[in-house]
Amino acid sequence: MQERNVLVVGAGPVGTVAALACARRGHRVTLLEARAAIDDSPRASTTQPPTLEIIEELGLIDEYIRVGLVSRTFQFWDRPTRRLIAEFDFGRLAGETRHPYVVQTEQHKLALMGIERLRQMPNARVFLGHAVTGITQTEKEVAVTTAKDRFTADYVIGCDGGRSTVRKELGIEFEGFTWPERFLVITTRFDFAAALGCCLRNYMAGPEEWTNLFKVAGDDLSGRWRAVYNTREDESDEEALSDKSVRERLGRVYVPEAERDYLHLNLYNVHQRVAKQFRKGRVFICGDAAHVNNPIGGLGLNCGIHEAWDLASLLSSENADLDSYERRRRPLNIEYVQEQTVANKKRLEEREPARREMRFDELRRMADDPAKHKAFLMKASLLESARRAKTIT
Ligand SMILES: Cc1cc2nc3c(=O)[nH]c(=O)nc-3n(C[C@H](O)[C@H](O)[C@H](O)COP(=O)(O)OP(=O)(O)OC[C@H]3O[C@@H](n4cnc5c(N)ncnc54)[C@H](O)[C@@H]3O)c2cc1C
Repeated sequence: MQERNVLVVGAGPVGTVAALACARRGHRVTLLEARAAIDDSPRASTTQPPTLEIIEELGLIDEYIRVGLVSRTFQFWDRPTRRLIAEFDFGRLAGETRHPYVVQTEQHKLALMGIERLRQMPNARVFLGHAVTGITQTEKEVAVTTAKDRFTADYVIGCDGGRSTVRKELGIEFEGFTWPERFLVITTRFDFAAALGCCLRNYMAGPEEWTNLFKVAGDDLSGRWRAVYNTREDESDEEALSDKSVRERLGRVYVPEAERDYLHLNLYNVHQRVAKQFRKGRVFICGDAAHVNNPIGGLGLNCGIHEAWDLASLLSSENADLDSYERRRRPLNIEYVQEQTVANKKRLEEREPARREMRFDELRRMADDPAKHKAFLMKASLLESARRAKTIT
């Protein structure tokens, strides 16, 4: 195999996986990150079975599970009536994957683990506090500039997030739309499993407001919950973040008044967008730089990690058809991530009473029928997408 000089922009979870996967295959790797320290704000944690297989191949799985929480099930609830509608069990995927469960590990932990490994490798270097400002390329190489330095590489992988400088420098359109409401994440120590009898991953539908409840380990591994809500379209940021409205929101998921303290708030805009191209010449985009979506279902980051793994393998193959990356990854993102996350959101927010009950009935029927239950999980876990990827050459 030809050793290549690969430069990765962005040390989020996707960039570190791309860098580590390339370095482990023997390429010379440079990872450039704009921030001086890795962003640890609460974002993705749900890691799907095919992603766990990649993390295993990277030699990180034991540590990844140790600092996270293994969750076999997820549940759908009707929030206003506090009814459990259906439960899905990843245990039904035994035989399809070495990991028939998800692991809830906060994304910054993966980035930090990846950077630690890269720093031990003689063929890799990591530069924090190096924001990429420009990219130019010839037929032979790519040049990347930061405020302080200029780097050259055979290939560049842009993993610099939704506002990607790499994507903008390449002049690639980010097609799609932004939802009118925002999502609010409240982090709390309140134990929803003990109080409601729910599991570690719960989707609670509501006609005016829905809530998703997830347990994560936290940096101290003592455990905490994230409650994710939609805001009203006309709600200002100030109102959504005010102590009064945060406490009212916690009350609406049955947190008693005396226990409505919280650790952290995160309010963010939500988009469904896919880049028109995933590659231009010697530069690829990957992860949120290539696509963004609402987080319901825990798919966006997982898909980005699959792309990073795919690219590392492609860049390591002799005479690889580099166009196959876009041919494979763009349609898979649209079908498995964009379409599923939009459907997941609609299922939670349905307002019309008869249609709500119809959606609940659909979920119950799916959960009760073993073949439908498994088929639903094959798609929701991205295992089906990972299998399809192997057929698109
Ligand atoms: C609340 C929330 C919950 C979510 N939950 C899930 C989930 O459970 N499962 C899931 O799959 N997805 C989830 N997502 C989506 C997930 O967080 C993103 O898909 C993920 O962060 C994408 O990783 P990334 O590495 O591509 O980009 P990022 O995490 O955005 O990382 C990009 C990195 O690039 C750096 N950077 C930016 N510009 C430059 C530059 N010019 N030069 C150098 N570096 C630069 C940034 O500082 C950053 O470190 C969630 C998102 C949110 C907001």
